[in-house]
Amino acid sequence: MSAPRLKAISSIIVLQVRRYGRSLPRRRRWVAAGLDARLTYVINESCIKCKLMDCVEICPVDCFYEGENMLVIHPDECIDCGVCEPECPVDAIKPDTEPGMERWIEINAQYAKSWPNITVKKPPPADAKEWEGKPDKLQHLSSNPGTGD
Ligand code: SF4
Repeated sequence: MSAPRLKAISSIIVLQVRRYGRSLPRRRRWVAAGLDARLTYVINESCIKCKLMDCVEICPVDCFYEGENMLVIHPDECIDCGVCEPECPVDAIKPDTEPGMERWIEINAQYAKSWPNITVKKPPPADAKEWEGKPDKLQHLSSNPGTGD
């Protein structure tokens, strides 16, 4: 990774911690407890069929992957900076430590291996608004890949 990119990532993390004051303390708590420090953010069912993509351009490490009707975050690439969480208009991005995220941790990890990387926002699906806030959208998740960048 180049020095300017590393510097940019450091600045984003510092800004994020100043604004939200959560990720670094969360990481420190895990490390202090001797636990695996690999933390990540995950995308949940709120994204299915909405796929608004406001998050992809802000990620400092480009770790979003695109399915036909949902995005996922690659757990091995996410640096837990948290800057994407407030960017999502439908509240689809959560820390993996939040209750109820178990199924979504699996789904993000599974599809991040096969779907293409996305770093540039595209227009959302034409019917995205109709799907905002609808419950039980997992049944509509498509395993097909998106088109990526
Ligand atoms: Fe990217 Fe969000 Fe992970 Fe930060 S928390 S690295 S913005 S996916």
